[in-house]
Amino acid sequence: MSRSDYEVIIGLEVHAELSTKTKIFCSCPTEFGGAPNTHTCPICMAMPGTLPVLNEKVVEYAVKAGLATNCEISRNSKNDRKNYYYPDLPKSYQISQFDQPLCEHGYVEIETEEGKKKIRLTRIHIEEDAGKLNHDDFGGGSLVDLNRAGVPLIEIVSEPDIRSAQEAEAYMRKLKSILEYIEVSDCKMQEGSLRADVNVSVKKKTDTKLGTRTEMKNMNSFRSIVRAIEYEVERQIDVLEDGGKIDQETLRWDDVSGKTFSMRDKEDAQDYRYFPDPDLVAIKLSEEYIENIKNTLPELPESRKQRYLEQYNLSEKDANIITASKYLSDLFESAIEVCNNPKAVNNWIISDISRILNETETEPIAIPFDGNQLGKLVVLIDKGTISSSIGKKVLEELFENPRDPEDIIKEKGWIQISDEGAIKEVVSKILEANPQSVADFRAGKDRALGFLVGQAMKETKGKANPKMLNEMFLEELKRGI
Ligand code: ADP
Ligand code: ZN
Ligand code: MG
Repeated sequence: MSRSDYEVIIGLEVHAELSTKTKIFCSCPTEFGGAPNTHTCPICMAMPGTLPVLNEKVVEYAVKAGLATNCEISRNSKNDRKNYYYPDLPKSYQISQFDQPLCEHGYVEIETEEGKKKIRLTRIHIEEDAGKLNHDDFGGGSLVDLNRAGVPLIEIVSEPDIRSAQEAEAYMRKLKSILEYIEVSDCKMQEGSLRADVNVSVKKKTDTKLGTRTEMKNMNSFRSIVRAIEYEVERQIDVLEDGGKIDQETLRWDDVSGKTFSMRDKEDAQDYRYFPDPDLVAIKLSEEYIENIKNTLPELPESRKQRYLEQYNLSEKDANIITASKYLSDLFESAIEVCNNPKAVNNWIISDISRILNETETEPIAIPFDGNQLGKLVVLIDKGTISSSIGKKVLEELFENPRDPEDIIKEKGWIQISDEGAIKEVVSKILEANPQSVADFRAGKDRALGFLVGQAMKETKGKANPKMLNEMFLEELKRGI
């Protein structure tokens, strides 16, 4: 059989840390980092006799996520204990939700080469994060840090509707974008605020039954998700083609070697012995409560995109890129308020800003300047105070050390030379130094003009007003014909 006879089946379980100020069952801060075990109390350290109290914000944020992903919201829900032992889980159970999750039966839409596609969501439930083990950080051995224990999570489980690594990436990006828009998670993947368990299987296209899946846990970059899926698909097909069978197991993806390794098998056999947590009350939501949350939902990416197409005449491609990130989209809108030049702001975001983000592997959330500063940069170019090539240098400066662009150009002496006398001086100097180009131009080689303007720009370090330069060169050159 050939590889094209196989179909790839993928389902994702995505964990997002909620950006509530306090933990899910106590009032410790959720803030990332901090000295080990400083964001803890008897409740999240699992001291005997302590009682958890559910943070209402967690329910609100989860319902918000459910509504933004077209889920049905359960009027009756509850918390269950998922029992397992791990050194970073001092209670020996995790409080999660089993058979009555807060949200069910949703979907998100992704763009594929064949058009729009719905990925169905099985459920979204709330649960607590575990602590962290620090290996080797303190001179051998492993120590437990419980700062993260009890940080609220939502787990978003998809149906096995995803058919390729590219679709998995598109799905993950879409989820990230939605969660950012509704401001329930900061989605910082490097810090683990957004991570995915990736389930992969392959089957022959003619088979109706799904194949056995493997699961790669806690993947936290788009690139490794794509690489891991591509590797795992190849590996599984090789095993099947060799007449072997796939074991249902948990794998560890290693970014360095680009391979998956077995961590523990027979995941299926694990029995968590779920039961309702007797320390917590049932979660009952009224119609009014859900309606109120619905009314607080902000404009979502799809709707912003439509608006950009109509209101600002952006291309579909540009509108997609900008609205995919709430931060880029907010930057776009606030810059336009300052400069009233959507086309210029669009160009800055799509070209130079995106390039710098790519080169420095920076997420839009970490852009250090604001829309006001970007808008002012556009104004300075529109007014002719600086050329667009100086504009690029100002942008780099905004990334390095953000401040008012006007201050930057004053400090750096980058104001455009538009003084006629000064321009004339440069023109004469360049003409004198390049008699060959002058002769070329007069012999009909128009290209020589561009060269001379380029030299003048070099001479003035990009500060001369290009329009004035052009005009004055032409005037001087034509004089002699
Ligand atoms: P758990 O991993 O907790 O046992 P499930 O059995 O519900 O949970 O499945 C988890 C994820 O695995 C879901 O996202 C689901 O879509 C996906 N999944 C289930 N079966 C397959 C399969 N055969 N191939 C790929 N993904 C699958
Ligand atoms: Zn606590
Ligand atoms: Mg799983």
